Amino acid sequence: MMQTPGVLIVGAGPAGLSCALWLKKLGLAPIILDRAALAGGLMNRNTLPNDWVLGQVGETGPSLAARFVRHVASLQVPISLGIDGLSMVRGDLGFQAQWQERGESRRLACAAVVLATGTRVRGAESLSGVPGLEEISPHVRYGPTAFDDIPEAARGLTLIVGGGDNAAENAHMLLAAGGEVVVVARSEFRAQTAMMARIVANPRARCVSKGRILALRPLPTGDFAATLFSEACPSLVVKAQRLHVLTGYEPNSDFSTGFDVDTWRALRRDEQAYLCTDAAGRCGVPGVYAAGDVCNPVFPSVVSAMAHGAMVAKAIERDLRLASSQS
Ligand SMILES: Cc1cc2nc3c(=O)[nH]c(=O)nc-3n(C[C@H](O)[C@H](O)[C@H](O)COP(=O)(O)OP(=O)(O)OC[C@H]3O[C@@H](n4cnc5c(N)ncnc54)[C@H](O)[C@@H]3O)c2cc1C
Repeated sequence: MMQTPGVLIVGAGPAGLSCALWLKKLGLAPIILDRAALAGGLMNRNTLPNDWVLGQVGETGPSLAARFVRHVASLQVPISLGIDGLSMVRGDLGFQAQWQERGESRRLACAAVVLATGTRVRGAESLSGVPGLEEISPHVRYGPTAFDDIPEAARGLTLIVGGGDNAAENAHMLLAAGGEVVVVARSEFRAQTAMMARIVANPRARCVSKGRILALRPLPTGDFAATLFSEACPSLVVKAQRLHVLTGYEPNSDFSTGFDVDTWRALRRDEQAYLCTDAAGRCGVPGVYAAGDVCNPVFPSVVSAMAHGAMVAKAIERDLRLASSQS
C-alpha cells in the first residue's frame, strides 16, 4: 500500500500553520516542529488588535494564534513544541529528520521539508560599539518589549532608534499617552507617510534622520544622556528615561547544523541572510521549501505568511505528484 508522504514543517507561525492546513487538505501528512513552547510564532508577541487580517476585527495576535492552532489541531496535524537538536539528512526518498523532544529522541522520514522559521528581533548588536550601552541597560527595551508598558514610559522622554513602521508606531503610542519622544533613524524614515506626518506635527516629538547615537551615559538623577550625531545637528544631547531599540528583524535562516553539509551549502540566501526561493517557495534544493517571513524581507505580515504557506503546500503537492508519475 502507498504511504501518505510526510512533510516536515519547521516553525509553527502563521506560515507553517497555514502550510500544514493546506497540505493536510491536499492529502499529505504534515507534522509541525517548533523550538518555542507555544505555537503561533511572532503573533504571540502582538498584544494589540491586528486589524490587518480580513474578517478578523479586533483580534489580538495571541487570540489569532490560538484560533489558527485550534484549526490545525482539529485536523489531527501533530504539532511538537519545545524541540531541540533538529537535523535533516538527505535520504533516498527525501529527508531523514531527527530531533529531541521532552528528553526523547524522535525520527521521521519525510518527502519534503518546509522552513517556516520566521525572523527574530535585532537586539543590542544594532548599537554595537556605542559606549555606555551596558551601563544604561536597565533603561533599554528591544523590539516588542518596547510596547509592554507604554503608560509608564510616557511619563518621560523616550529615545527611539529605528526608522520603520515599528519605531513610528511606538512613537505614536507614546505621544498618544502623553509622552515625549526623540526618534533617530540611520537613514531617511521609511515608516508609513500618514503616521510619520502625525509624529512630525506633534510638538512633543523630534525626528532625526540620517542620525546615530555616539555615546550613552547614566546620570545621577537616574536618567541617562545620549549624544546624537546627524548631518543637520552634529552634536545633540538628549536626556531620556528610556531607550527603545526598534531596528527591525533578521531571518532565522541558519540551518548550518540542521542540514547535511551539501544541502546547507546549496541553500541560497541573500545578503541579509533571507532564504531565496522561486515564486512557489522552492529553495533551489529538491524537497526543501521556505514560507513566510524567513524568505520575505519586503512584506512580512500575518496574511502574507499565511498565503505563502498555502502556496508552498500546493507546490509540494504538485512536485510530489509529478515525481511519482515519473518514477
Ligand atoms: C510586536 C509585533 C507586532 C506585529 N503586528 C502585526 C500586525 O499587526 N499585523 C501583521 O500582519 N503582522 C504583525 N506582525 C508580524 C507578524 O507577526 C509576522 O509577520 C508573522 O508572524 C510571520 O509569520 P511566520 O510564520 O513567517 O514566522 P513567525 O511568526 O516568526 O514563526 C516562526 C516560528 O518558527 C520557530 N522557529 C524559528 N527557528 C526555528 C528552528 N530552528 N527550529 C524550530 N522552530 C524554529 C519560531 O519559534 C516561531 O514559532 C507583528 C510582529 C510583532 C513582533
